[in-house]
Amino acid sequence: MIDLKNADINFKWNIIKQEGGEGLLKCFGCSDCSASCPVRYLDDRYNPRKIIRLTLLGMKNEVLSSPFLWLCAHCHACTERCPQGIRVAEVINAIKNYAVKSGYCPEGLKVQLNLLNNSGRLYELEDFDLRKRQRMGLPEIAKKIADVARIFQSTKIFERIAK
Ligand code: SF4
Ligand code: SF4
Repeated sequence: MIDLKNADINFKWNIIKQEGGEGLLKCFGCSDCSASCPVRYLDDRYNPRKIIRLTLLGMKNEVLSSPFLWLCAHCHACTERCPQGIRVAEVINAIKNYAVKSGYCPEGLKVQLNLLNNSGRLYELEDFDLRKRQRMGLPEIAKKIADVARIFQSTKIFERIAK
């Protein structure tokens, strides 16, 4: 049950201010986005219409602390189908960005950021992998991609998620 006593009236306005969140107010709740979402097909606890509805109602904590927010695969099927022309996937992204800025970054994402920072990849390459590539005649690649750490440094991502 939704308890509007805990609603934050500024929540939707804060999302609208994020890049990609602009179209939020145009949603009339038709559910076309949810009907076309492949993630929802696999797990019906994920529901983009519900995320947008709860955001419009100001249910900040429910939306930002939900692990389902992070399941969006960014396939844009919802954006293609929305009769209101809302860039639904971008709205979900705006909510995710706001979640990170507000201290709701999930632990799994922090682990992924650390991996990327250390090696530039989510999957660290071992000598074994490089030898295997060589045996298969694949081109040489660097074990570490240093540019990723440099991007993290210039965007101050670790300072942002620590807030
Ligand atoms: S398809 Fe568009 S208008 Fe319909 S519920 Fe989803 S975001 Fe809202
Ligand atoms: S972009 Fe996200 S919300 Fe939209 S259809 Fe794809 S997985 Fe579902």
